Formats: sequence, structure tokens, C-alpha cells
Amino acid sequence: MIPYGRQSVDDQDIAAVVEVLKGDWLTQGPHIEEFEEAVARRVGARHAVAYSSGTAALHGATHAARLGSGDLVVTTPLTFVASANCARYVGADVGFVDIDPETLNIDPAKVPAAADAVVAVHYAGLPVDLTRLAHRPRVVIEDAAQAFGAETLDGPVGNCSRSDLCVFSFHPVKSVTTAEGGVVTTNDDDLADRLRRFRTIGIRRMPEVAGWYYEVEELGFNYRMTDLHAALGTSQLRKLDRFIDRRNELADRYRQLLAGLPLALPPAPSAGSRHAYHLFVIRVADRRRVYDELRDAGVGAQVHYVPIHHHPAYLWARAEYSLPNADAAYEEILSIPLFPDLTVDQQDHVVGSLRRSLGG
Ligand SMILES: *Cc1c(COP(=O)(O)O)cnc(C)c1O
Repeated sequence: MIPYGRQSVDDQDIAAVVEVLKGDWLTQGPHIEEFEEAVARRVGARHAVAYSSGTAALHGATHAARLGSGDLVVTTPLTFVASANCARYVGADVGFVDIDPETLNIDPAKVPAAADAVVAVHYAGLPVDLTRLAHRPRVVIEDAAQAFGAETLDGPVGNCSRSDLCVFSFHPVKSVTTAEGGVVTTNDDDLADRLRRFRTIGIRRMPEVAGWYYEVEELGFNYRMTDLHAALGTSQLRKLDRFIDRRNELADRYRQLLAGLPLALPPAPSAGSRHAYHLFVIRVADRRRVYDELRDAGVGAQVHYVPIHHHPAYLWARAEYSLPNADAAYEEILSIPLFPDLTVDQQDHVVGSLRRSLGG
């Protein structure tokens, strides 16, 4: 089965991890800081704080931003559930704003004035246009789990030029991987301080009192990344541009080969921006049949996502919100394989299988 996405790990990456295993620190050693600095430099942010996963990083972001009970955090329904869960983790309410049917991103013009925060998800790696926000809520968090390596006219996603905090994931299917892992970037010193304390059980070390002394200032979690994962991340980061370029080349090739078939192609990035192409999402009329036939042909197509308000844990939202664009998109969307090591032969097989299924 050709998967819809997968990691590219080479001998350099493996050597970087083995080197850590031979050293003194398996966790909380120098590789975390090295990775954080490399990410911050790459995206042009003042701070990068590493977490054990993208989901944990989203939790850190809502906590650091002091969101909580009584606050309304809005996001898109067409995303991984962590984009909404991160509000509930801190006791805030979640609201949903329908997607723009063209970009499949949250429609920024529809963010209500009542929102205290927005979690803007860059769906499939295409950046949300934050210049179009109808209202700038108190807190703007970018869920850029799928958009590491993407760029807008304001520079790299992650530089927080139009947000307070930006969250990346390094799960194996994302732009680069640490196996499990995430990072929050910010330009705000106070937010960075809170992010660091929260991932380390709420501890503040106080050597000025005594060498051993620390205080637990608040309730935190063990959301640390390990040095093994960070070393893998630093090694992977060197290949980010190559990976994203390859994803863009393969996406362009899909556009040429699929033109003329009865399907809708994904939106192209606007001028001056760069798509991370985490996913290549086509829209087809008879999605269930096409999905099954692709799978039978060894093509691991996938659906991203079952909208959040369709899940039992969010059924209240289905009653409360009308989200016709997300509901309509869900009927048709299909992610076809796209990852840096996808071969041209494999891609041709995907296209041939689609052509047979769609009768083109
Ligand atoms: C992958 C992903 C996450 C979660 O990241 P993990 O590292 O898997 O916890 C959150 N939001 C979006 C949009 C994602 O794609």
C-alpha cells in the first residue's frame, strides 16, 4: 500500500540519534536547546519551546495565553481534534467557524467579535490569510502542525508576525519528524517563560536560594521532548527545504496529470507564498467508491478529516453550529499520497488508479 504520507529518515538521522544514546543525557540535555534554537532561527521567531507532541504544544499554547473558564476559543471544524481539544484542556469553551469553500481553511472574515481566541489551522499546509481576520481576538494561535516550511508575504509561518503563538508538530507524516514532538514559537518573553514552566511540571529552579532549590509555581505537566527526539529533529531540519521543494514538485506534477479528470484540484498558494503540501486533497463526487477502489489498487488514500462536530465527543457542537461548507467538503475530500520519497512510478500508479475509478 502506498501510504498518504510517510517520513524520510536517512543514515545521517540515524547516526544523530545513536550519538545521543552513547552520551550522558537521554533527556533534558543540550540537544533540546540546539533544536529549539535551530527552529527559532529557521522561522524567524524569538523563542521556540519544544514539547513531547504537537497536541501537548497546543495545550501549552492555550495555557501560556491564559485562556480558561469563560473564554471562547474558535477554530475550524475541518481539522485534527487537537485543534479544538486544546481549548477544553484549559476549561475554555470551543466554538466553530465554517470553512472557506475555496481554501478549506477557516474563513477568517467569519471570526466573531465574541471570540477571545482563534486557533487558526493551516489546513494541508496552505497558510490561513490572517490579514483577513474580521476581528483580532485577544489571542491568536496558529496551529501550523501541517505548515512547517510554508511561507506567506509576511515571511515564514512561525515568525508570529500576525499571531501570539504558533504550534508545529513533528509527527512522522508532517514536514519533518522527531517521531513524536512539537514546538511552540513566540516573540513574547513572558509567553515563552510560561511555555517552558508548563512543560516541566510547573517547576522554577532557583539556584540563587540554594544549588538544589526549586519551587513548583503552578500545576504543570511532563511534556518534555527527549534529547533523542531533538537530535533527530535537528538532523531532519537540515532537509526541510529539500522536502518542501519535492512536495511542491510532486504537487505540480499531480496538477498536470489530473487535469481533465472529473475531480476538483486543491487550491494553489497565492502569489508570494509557499505551500507546505502536507496533504494533496482532491474532491470527488463518489468519494466512498473512489476511496475503496484506490485502496483495492494499493493506494492508501485517506480522508482529512471527519469534521470535529461529527464526533461523539463534540455532538453538542453539531446541534449548536451550522457548518454547511465543512459538511459539504467532508462528503468529497480525499487525500492522495504525497511525501518526499514518493517515486514518479508510484505517483503514476496513483494517477492511473484514479483515472480508472473516475472513468477518465
Ligand atoms: C498533527 C496535527 C496535530 C497534532 O500533532 P501531534 O504531534 O500528532 O500531537 C494538531 N493539529 C493538526 C492540524 C495536526 O495536523
